[in-house]
Amino acid sequence: MHAVEKKVRAFVRVKPTAQFAQDVIKFGPDNKSIDIYIKKDAKKGVVNNKQTDWSFKLDGVLHNTSQELTYETVAKKLVSEALVGYNGTIMCYGQTGAGKTYTMTGATAEYKHRGIIPRAVQQVFKAITRSVDSFITVRISYLEIYNETLCDLLSTMTSSGASDVQMAIVDCPQGVYVKGLSIHSVSDEEDALNLLFEGETNRVIAEHTLNKNSSRSHCIFTIYIQSRFRVLSDVRCINSKINLIDLAGSERLSKTGSEGRVLKEAAYINKSLSFLEQIIIALADPKREHIPFRQSKLTHVLKDSLGGKCNTVLVANICGEALHVEETLSSLRFATRMKWITTEPVINVTYDSEGTVKALEKEISLLKQELAMHDSLVNRSSVTYDPLTDVQVAEIKSQIHKYLQGDIDEIDIMNFRQVQEVFRQFKLIVRKQVDEVETRLRSKYVLIDRNDFATISAAQKVGIVDVDHHLLKRQDVDIIPTPVPPKPDEKKSRTSSLRPKKEGTKSLFSGRDLAAHLPSKSQVIIPTKSLDVKEKARNEDTAHIDAQPSKPVSKENSQWSSSPPSRAVAFEQFKKECGSEINRIFKENKSILLARRKRSSTVARRINIIKQEIEDIKKALEAQRQERSQQGEYVDEKGRLIIDEKEFLLIMKLKDLKEEYRCSYAELQDLKAEIQYCQHLVDQCRNKLISEFEIWYSESFLIPTYVQNALKSGGNIRPGMIPINRVMCLEEDEQDRFERMQEVMLPAGPDSVSFYKAKMKTDQKHTYSRTMSSLKLMHKKPGHITAAGKDKALSFLHVT
Ligand code: ADP
Ligand code: MG
Repeated sequence: MHAVEKKVRAFVRVKPTAQFAQDVIKFGPDNKSIDIYIKKDAKKGVVNNKQTDWSFKLDGVLHNTSQELTYETVAKKLVSEALVGYNGTIMCYGQTGAGKTYTMTGATAEYKHRGIIPRAVQQVFKAITRSVDSFITVRISYLEIYNETLCDLLSTMTSSGASDVQMAIVDCPQGVYVKGLSIHSVSDEEDALNLLFEGETNRVIAEHTLNKNSSRSHCIFTIYIQSRFRVLSDVRCINSKINLIDLAGSERLSKTGSEGRVLKEAAYINKSLSFLEQIIIALADPKREHIPFRQSKLTHVLKDSLGGKCNTVLVANICGEALHVEETLSSLRFATRMKWITTEPVINVTYDSEGTVKALEKEISLLKQELAMHDSLVNRSSVTYDPLTDVQVAEIKSQIHKYLQGDIDEIDIMNFRQVQEVFRQFKLIVRKQVDEVETRLRSKYVLIDRNDFATISAAQKVGIVDVDHHLLKRQDVDIIPTPVPPKPDEKKSRTSSLRPKKEGTKSLFSGRDLAAHLPSKSQVIIPTKSLDVKEKARNEDTAHIDAQPSKPVSKENSQWSSSPPSRAVAFEQFKKECGSEINRIFKENKSILLARRKRSSTVARRINIIKQEIEDIKKALEAQRQERSQQGEYVDEKGRLIIDEKEFLLIMKLKDLKEEYRCSYAELQDLKAEIQYCQHLVDQCRNKLISEFEIWYSESFLIPTYVQNALKSGGNIRPGMIPINRVMCLEEDEQDRFERMQEVMLPAGPDSVSFYKAKMKTDQKHTYSRTMSSLKLMHKKPGHITAAGKDKALSFLHVT
């Protein structure tokens, strides 16, 4: 990858203050420069050659800038480049209190005030969610350097607790790393933020217990990103890391007026910061060959994050007050020096040899299997590519018959031709079966066209087909449900309304049911009158296509109930008992429907008669007219035609008939609508009756006795008692609802959920552990506890 030269970018962020020294600090119009003016010190005499004006050119001045805009300006690009493989480093430099921590971590109490770290974490995970073709893992570490000592801020998160391993900075060809520093895999934003907050808390705790001053330590939060993609068999691996560094306060020693330990600390800080400065100067000088990174822990750790192959950004945090102008000047100088450094960021891509080997191994084993199969196929049959001989086909046929009869469990696969032949044979068998079934049915029933209403109504009269065109053997309409309860979407294919034969062992198909099985869909089948016993016996063989209401119990069901009554018997009982009301309504609707149909056919007949009469009269009238025209027409004085009485009567009759025809026709239309409606009701009732019966039947006979017992009064299931799995469901629903509500209620919207959750977790954990340790302390050495300490512990207890 060709590297493009880049400069380190440097920004200055001014901490907002009421006492902003307007006459000392001035911003350039483009917001990229900052000028400092110091008034001549009168005390230093008339001749004062000290420089009083400075101008600094930077990549941007962040003045009264929100956290969000700061992030956008400083970090966003760097993070998105890290996601494609460039290392990135962001450093905050400046005196204590100037806003380094605020810029880097932000105020953890409020989402809006979160700093660069949580925002970078969010950006990384949002990008991961969007990426589809790569497998990305994210890991986190949090290192503190205090007085040249390395400290793992996340050691409390490892299973072994604080690690005893002595940490050390190790140089290796891939870059520097800290041996012994815990690196934690995180699966989402919340996970990562948990670690940030944990580290922050540990830093604060150490400040209290070890009397450390957190402003004197450097903190490095690192996000390691690894994306893997498969490019053919190569596993390409892109590694990058983002170092987010909150440096120690850069204030100079003299100002702090420190002594003893504090002096030592300050010396360490200044040493490491001045080494940092030296490194930066050295890096900016193209002629320098040796860069003394190893001089301090900080510079050593940052070796591959500072110049070189990395995107680097510096934020100089300054205070706006005149009082701090010296520190401000030194921070600005540091920032401009950083800008001299050129870098050549490159994508850190490696070919994961382990991954590649694994991928190849997998492929090889797949190919081996393929080959083994191929070999075995070749070995088993010498004729792999030739068409099958008759003998082979016969062999396959006999195998299939054996298979269908259950004599063999499997049909061995020999080659493609054999597989195809097997399928062909199956197809033949299925076709033959269909033909056989149709022939059998035809020998037993007469097929009539579904649209041939004349024949159907003739059949109805004889009582072979009911008003729904369902097949009957008797006129009284009765139903027997099929073993399978009707599915709601099968409403249209009305459940067979059939009547069992006298023996009550077998039901017949309704026309519609049959239509589904037979090729011709517009045919209704009417049984032929004669059915010999042999024929019946033969039909028993076709049980696999017939519904069997009397043998409804499947294997599983029969384990539960020793001998449930046959469905036919049970159905009679059901109609008398639980189903009596539905049955009554069903019958009522049915009889209304029948009445309407009868009326409808009467009206239709009448209409036909009227039509015939109208035709007759029309003919008679025509004859009259012809006669009249032959005899010559009579016309009155006004020129009107005079007709005889007979013709007049015929005309009147025709008028009446036409009127009657109109009325009857209207009635027929009404009846048709009514019939349609009634038919719908009848269908509904039928379905209801059948589904109710199915439920009743399985509850009464098919539910295991122990469940039935449990349901009885005194059993271990009581009405109103919620089964435990339901309770769990409820709990989950509540949780969901809570989380949804949280998302809606949170001031900063759903994006802030991870932030607040992580914060809450860390807070809870530490409140708990502090309470526990306070309690232990009280327990162990009651004398040592101060009144205030006790209060604190108690108040913690109170809170938790
Ligand atoms: P440092 O880490 O440099 O010592 P801090 O980040 O702790 O300084 O900032 C000191 C105080 O000033 C904190 O209370 C912080 O909230 C506040 N502060 C710093 N910068 C800003 C800013 N840009 N806006 C608002 N408050 C700020
Ligand atoms: Mg700080």
